[in-house]
Amino acid sequence: MTTPATDLTILEKYYDIVQIIDPFATPPLPPAASNNPQCQWECYHLGNSGLVCKNCVSLQSIQEKETFIKIEVRKGKFYMITAMPLELDGRTVALELIKCVSEKTVESFLPMPGKGTNLCRSIAKLNDLAIKDALTNIFNRRYIDEQLPLEISLAKQHNLPFSIVMADIDYFKQINDQYGHLVGDEVLKLFATQLQNNIRTSNGDWIARYGGEEFLIVLSNCPESPAYKVTEKFRKIIDQTPFTTSAGQLHITASFGVHTFSGQENDLRQLFDKVDSQLYHAKQAGRNCTASKNRTKSCQVYCQQH
Ligand code: GH3
Ligand code: MG
Ligand code: MG
Repeated sequence: MTTPATDLTILEKYYDIVQIIDPFATPPLPPAASNNPQCQWECYHLGNSGLVCKNCVSLQSIQEKETFIKIEVRKGKFYMITAMPLELDGRTVALELIKCVSEKTVESFLPMPGKGTNLCRSIAKLNDLAIKDALTNIFNRRYIDEQLPLEISLAKQHNLPFSIVMADIDYFKQINDQYGHLVGDEVLKLFATQLQNNIRTSNGDWIARYGGEEFLIVLSNCPESPAYKVTEKFRKIIDQTPFTTSAGQLHITASFGVHTFSGQENDLRQLFDKVDSQLYHAKQAGRNCTASKNRTKSCQVYCQQH
């Protein structure tokens, strides 16, 4: 799409908010102006709120260079959000068109009082499904690919450290082979739950399933030494927690690679290469280990039960 920014005025007749979103801009873009004072839109202003919406169609449209549409519920009203990629000054940004559709469409389908509540829940659920892994119910790979570049951008803008951890279950193939894939799936769910229950979400930390039996933990505002310590805590929790499955209690261990953002990595590939190499060291050290650039914990006594 090549529409110059100056041509956007015509769209303002039809939408409540027409705005250009560039989550990676330095400094962040100012909040959007609304044509409709009823349309209170506090999301999508990374610089303003410090937050970007989790299922962000603008990030998706920038990264996939396609147009995406979603419905969101805000303060009991339904909004249609369309995001499309726009090339501006050599950068891909998102053109975001927001329209309150409550009166025009949704309510006309909902004569029964109270139905709106169910619809709100269904819409919230749909938005959640787009960014969650179906098996473990933690964030999925799409969420990583969209949100991690933002962590890099914010860390660079504010000169804040952050660390990522790649966790890989040890000898997981043997669990599948010995007990079957369904038990393997149970182990993946329990593993994700253990990590989810032990991260500090209030601090902005989050976890996601990277793929297979590999999980990514993002530790916000966390330099290497505390990142190493907190990862050791995760490792010990997994090692010491019996996993209760339909095949009985299993002893599971995992290896963890820690990498702290150095300010030099420009994209996800570089970040993943670094953390993968630490994970490799943890596996080489005998598994059930945590490795980071400056520290590699020698293995604890590892009881191989599989
Ligand atoms: P290592 O200690 O070196 O990590 O060995 P590993 O056996 O854990 O690693 P490997 O890469 O050899 O095997 C990973 C296995 O994970 C193979 C694959 O079939 C299994 N797997 C990937 N995704 C799923 C899933 O969703 N469910 C189940 N049950 N298994 C999966
Ligand atoms: Mg693996
Ligand atoms: Mg493994």
